[in-house]
Amino acid sequence: MAAVSDGDDYIVNGTKIWTSYAQHADMMFALVRTSTEGKRQEGISFLLIDMTAPGITVKPIINLEGVHELNQVFFDDVRVPKKNRVGEENDGWSVAKYLLEFERFSMSSVEIRRVLGRVEELARQTRNDGATLAREPAFMQKLAKLNVDATALEISEQRVLSNLSAGNPPGAASSIQKARGSEVQQQADILGVEAAAYYANPLQPEALELGTNRPPVGPELAITLVPMYLSNRMRTIAGGSSEIQRNIVAKAVLGL
Ligand SMILES: Cc1cc2nc3c(=O)[nH]c(=O)nc-3n(C[C@H](O)[C@H](O)[C@H](O)COP(=O)(O)OP(=O)(O)OC[C@H]3O[C@@H](n4cnc5c(N)ncnc54)[C@H](O)[C@@H]3O)c2cc1C
Repeated sequence: MAAVSDGDDYIVNGTKIWTSYAQHADMMFALVRTSTEGKRQEGISFLLIDMTAPGITVKPIINLEGVHELNQVFFDDVRVPKKNRVGEENDGWSVAKYLLEFERFSMSSVEIRRVLGRVEELARQTRNDGATLAREPAFMQKLAKLNVDATALEISEQRVLSNLSAGNPPGAASSIQKARGSEVQQQADILGVEAAAYYANPLQPEALELGTNRPPVGPELAITLVPMYLSNRMRTIAGGSSEIQRNIVAKAVLGL
């Protein structure tokens, strides 16, 4: 996306893909190119854009789970007041890097534990053949390992929270936590699909609707496990891929 100065405004043209929930938003932020001089990271500015401004078109992208969360936003001569710029002109990358430290930090251990809790409950239910997964040591060992991983994550999350409460930004710790959290989440989701077994097969999005009057196929505990598995494939990409997080850790933490 490029922004050209015009008096008190910028004129923005181009497109921004993967914009989560743009269909609901009244404002968005975007990094726009305001100069082509210097290094690639220079010459970028950070703008807050009114989604009702003339020239903006939002096109939906349906995800793997079949849900409309993502969008591509098109800008056609969109006028954005310069007072909506955050930070200095051409210094938007510094603003974005600071913001990303916060975007990348999340309490992933909470969601992971929620999935593992469902998996454990499901594992203790007796299947049609009279067996229970909870009696299979190989399965329970995987569950135990992921519970240990979730505890380790929670401890590093609390380290970041303690930093935040002392007024410090998360720093590169959020990259470690983001890469690790998203990978453990995906492993927990895989175990969830294993626990759901053949009940992972029915496609039943209506079972997730609030107030639905159609009974689910299979145990109620299993109905969110496959949608979670599908939706969380993006975890190691969105917010910066795991490879990028490892590069940040290599540079900022290990000094490589
Ligand atoms: C579900 C979802 C929601 C999203 N929501 C938003 C949103 O709301 N707003 C927003 O702005 N963006 C959003 N994104 C975009 C997201 O931030 C990017 O997809 C992500 O940062 C990866 O960038 P990319 O797609 O350009 O992939 P690329 O950077 O092109 O990466 C492609 C592959 O190359 C690898 N790679 C790239 N560079 C290097 C390197 N230097 N070293 C090693 N490997 C490398 C990557 O790891 C990856 O495997 C979303 C993405 C997804 C999937």
